[in-house]
Amino acid sequence: MEWVRGETIGYGSFGTVNLVLPKTGFSGSSFLAVKCCETNNSASLKNEKQVLHQLGFCPQIISCFGDDFTVENCGKFYNLFLEYANKGSLADHLQLNGGKLMESDVKRFARSILKGLNFIHSKGFVHCDIKLQNVLLFGNGDVKIADFGLAKRKCEKQGRFEIRGTPLSMAPESINGNVYDSGVDIWALGCAVVEMFTGKPAWNLKPGANMADLLIKIGASDELPGIPRELSGEGKDFLVKCFSRDTNKRWTAEMLLQHPFMAGDDETVPSTSSRGCVEEIAITPRCTLDFPDRVWSESILGENSSMFSSALDRIRELACDEAPNWGVSGSWMRLR
Ligand code: ATP
Repeated sequence: MEWVRGETIGYGSFGTVNLVLPKTGFSGSSFLAVKCCETNNSASLKNEKQVLHQLGFCPQIISCFGDDFTVENCGKFYNLFLEYANKGSLADHLQLNGGKLMESDVKRFARSILKGLNFIHSKGFVHCDIKLQNVLLFGNGDVKIADFGLAKRKCEKQGRFEIRGTPLSMAPESINGNVYDSGVDIWALGCAVVEMFTGKPAWNLKPGANMADLLIKIGASDELPGIPRELSGEGKDFLVKCFSRDTNKRWTAEMLLQHPFMAGDDETVPSTSSRGCVEEIAITPRCTLDFPDRVWSESILGENSSMFSSALDRIRELACDEAPNWGVSGSWMRLR
């Protein structure tokens, strides 16, 4: 791909993020972003490329479109091409919205992040740096997980002790045992949910507290991050499941996706059919025809469900060849 570096849209610890203006060789319709750094400082960007390549496509993860090297201003640079998120990060979005989000938005964003995490964990990786700055927003309201510079394989042994990620979102086991498994992403997701809802970091630190105070609080106390009082009961319970200090009791992304806090009317919600089994309903039904056929027919018609096989059949049953006589209004009710 031939391309030109556009305006700078972000700064990271590795270098800069710019818009890409493709000249030739790119058939996609979307804009691209490029993360750029000097080649001799490119370990984290190259790790990001490798992980994204191995993960493959997921709608809740920023897509990668390859990499290249350029020589600019007498230096050699490594460039990583990514899908461009035109609304910046969730941290930016929070600031623009007065620092706090409504619970319905928090739920929607948390659900997308969880779907992304579920995918990452199912492929055997851990992101290790989930925070609002690393979740990017699109014009249509979608969010995607970005910044895989610290991501690693689940089973990879951690050598020397290191702080991997952002201290405010670190899980106790990382501080105490240098452990970075999928649970650390869940703990960090809990911190992100608190921050979206309150506009403040999940840990309430005293003025003047330093990094050591924070690490002691997370690693060596029984305290948990603050669970907002104004959050619904379901939201509070969701956070309790994220903030279990016992990693065996902390819920996984797959389990949390089934938590009542994650049910919503803009997405697939589990619903119980008349026979007590869980059925997927893709949209909130607003009339009987909106129910999937099996739910509709089993719950409404019971044993006679085989009479109707689809919404189209049901409409055919109601339709006839004769034109309706709208003049007959004797038994009609006036609705306002
Ligand atoms: P940190 O150290 O804070 O985690 P980082 O060094 O890992 O940052 P990134 O988070 O990857 O850097 O990128 C820095 C910023 O650049 C992001 O917060 C975001 O505002 C912007 N950015 C990164 N990637 C994209 C993208 N694909 N589309 C739009 N903006 C992006």
